[in-house]
Amino acid sequence: MADIRVMREDLLPPKQPPRRHLLSVADLTRHDVERLLATARSFERSLEREVKKLPTLRGRTVVNLFFESSTRTSSSFELAAKRLSADTMTIKSSGSSVDKGESLKDTALTLGAYDPDVIVIRHPHIGAPQLVARVTEARIVNAGDGKHQHPTQALLDLYTMRGAFGRLEGLHVAIVGDVLHSRVARSLIQALELVGASCVLVGPPTLIPRAIGVESSSDIETLAEADVVYVLRMQKERMLEGANFVPSLREYSERWGVTRERLRPGQVVMHPGPMNRGVEIDPAVADAANALIQQQVRSGLVVRMAVLYDLLAHGPAPVPAEAALEVA
Ligand code: ASP
Repeated sequence: MADIRVMREDLLPPKQPPRRHLLSVADLTRHDVERLLATARSFERSLEREVKKLPTLRGRTVVNLFFESSTRTSSSFELAAKRLSADTMTIKSSGSSVDKGESLKDTALTLGAYDPDVIVIRHPHIGAPQLVARVTEARIVNAGDGKHQHPTQALLDLYTMRGAFGRLEGLHVAIVGDVLHSRVARSLIQALELVGASCVLVGPPTLIPRAIGVESSSDIETLAEADVVYVLRMQKERMLEGANFVPSLREYSERWGVTRERLRPGQVVMHPGPMNRGVEIDPAVADAANALIQQQVRSGLVVRMAVLYDLLAHGPAPVPAEAALEVA
């Protein structure tokens, strides 16, 4: 009979898996996206109750570290953590020691000393979230790094689209405007591909990156083919000083502004905010019934609850106490 030998290592609890982060849409599989959207849906249902707080992350700490302006992302991460009963603090660079010249590494080390479970970071420099992941023990969520990635925005956009159409597979999305400087576009393009949706980039050739490998057009009439018209603002803060990507904002809005006349019935309009009404989007479009902009904000809360929950709840598989005792 074969000699079956059980090694002591076989009976030990499995090693801790590597810490999980959400740094980029590239970190996700389609299965991950589906799981996160389903979790967000169940959180949405739980928020329909009168008492909206869940005990899920009681005793956990979430730090929001924002080195760039934000309204929607910072408020929704803070509320998401609070709804899940985590302890949370939000630190904005202005008014913090960053104003006194402290480096990102030192700020991260300082906050890391409180042993936070999650650090949510927004930073103007690409790769800042990776640096914080290296110097702290926390799970890191990228809430926007330069023009690179904004994965939770892409997830909340998918959630909103599925809510409107009941499906994602086969949807066609036109992303209109300053794609060149947009982390939202980069994340969304990858996310749409993951779920079997397609997209086209529309805008002046100077604001559409060539190497992105996605169909593009400078003809605003291309919008007519899309189910979703996703509008982006001009990201002036990321444009090189003195660079002129369009002759003037007036000309931009005449040629590429999203107006009622450029839309057809059955389409929905989305915008990650902040909007510049009268530039990339006509106020009548922003306020129309088929604009899902407020819905995107609502989706942001439940999707960010799902992301925090997912990073913290999917720890190592529990090991039955007896198994651990037998080999002790
Ligand atoms: N709020 C989005 C971002 O942080 C879009 C924008 O700022 O235009 O990237």
